[in-house]
Amino acid sequence: MIPLIKPFLPEKEILLPELEKILYSGYIAEGEAVYQFEDAVKKYIGNPYCLALNSGTAALHLALIIADVKSGDEVISTPMTAEPTNTSISAIDAKIIWGDVNLNNGLLDPDSVRSLINSKTKAIVVVHYAGMVCDMDEFNKLSQEFNIPIIEDAAHALGSKYNGKMVGNGQNVTIFSFQAIKHMTTVDGGILSVTNENALERTRRLRWFGLDKKKARLLNDITELGYKYAMNNVNATIGNVQMRFINSVIDKYISNGKFYDNALKSINGIELMAYNKNTEPSYWLYTLKVERREDFIKMLEANSVTASPLHHRNDTHSIFKTLKRDLPNMDIFYNSFVHIPCGWWVGNEDREYIVDLIKKGW
Ligand SMILES: *Cc1c(COP(=O)(O)O)cnc(C)c1O
Repeated sequence: MIPLIKPFLPEKEILLPELEKILYSGYIAEGEAVYQFEDAVKKYIGNPYCLALNSGTAALHLALIIADVKSGDEVISTPMTAEPTNTSISAIDAKIIWGDVNLNNGLLDPDSVRSLINSKTKAIVVVHYAGMVCDMDEFNKLSQEFNIPIIEDAAHALGSKYNGKMVGNGQNVTIFSFQAIKHMTTVDGGILSVTNENALERTRRLRWFGLDKKKARLLNDITELGYKYAMNNVNATIGNVQMRFINSVIDKYISNGKFYDNALKSINGIELMAYNKNTEPSYWLYTLKVERREDFIKMLEANSVTASPLHHRNDTHSIFKTLKRDLPNMDIFYNSFVHIPCGWWVGNEDREYIVDLIKKGW
């Protein structure tokens, strides 16, 4: 079976000696390995203000805090995502206002968001779902016009680009996840990418109970409640080794994605995604819309290829029942989208095999 998801881990001979070294080094909590990892990510995404955390969810929480979102405030978000995007908003008791999606790519629709903005709106969370980048031309305009911060959930979008630069390069607060199934994994982990030195220093304290690690414990005074969100040296060591391979791994996702973009055009029963202008996806999942989706999935599975919509639209969960709104585009998109394998493990023969199967019909 060709899977939809498969964690990339460097070879044993390369990874295990590094892990052994750190495990018995006497210093396994947040330390040098974490700061090295932050430096590597800073260089990769092109933003000096990055903080390594123990999950992408922790990064979302801190992103909402520095956007000054408080209990009762409204946050506009999308149901077309993994649950942590939205449980994080509920966790601080803010109210999620569901925006509708663009029918042609499933990403949050800026026009829908515009119609929902009011004096209670404190932040807009956009999700670069499956590695496709939201319409940032429009979202950045909205942010300026209404003076509302955008938080970019780039858990699926390591290596994606906007205007030729990496997502997360510092225009908006952005989060990444290194959870098991993402482009790159540290087993668990995340990055919070912020836009200035003050925000970096503030979140540095918030990741460690509100304590300032640069000061002696006895000289510390907690002035703002923080959390236990720091990455540790063990996860960071995995990250440091992973970063040696990041370009080739991401390139493989992108090469497969572009291959499908080309090979699957103009096939009956399939609609490819319309990527937003000035954006380049990193194809964490290859997304398409298909007619008779169940049959499509069955046909591929019968031929040892996994295909699935993967995510559950978030607005239908019981905890969000009272927030329900009509989302006509989401209803249509949700019933027709599907993902096919696209990652580093999909070889040239595999991707040709998958295209041939689809061309034969379902
Ligand atoms: C994985 C994921 C997260 C959260 O990341 P964790 O590291 O698992 O906490 C947030 N948003 C999206 C869209 C995700 O897929």
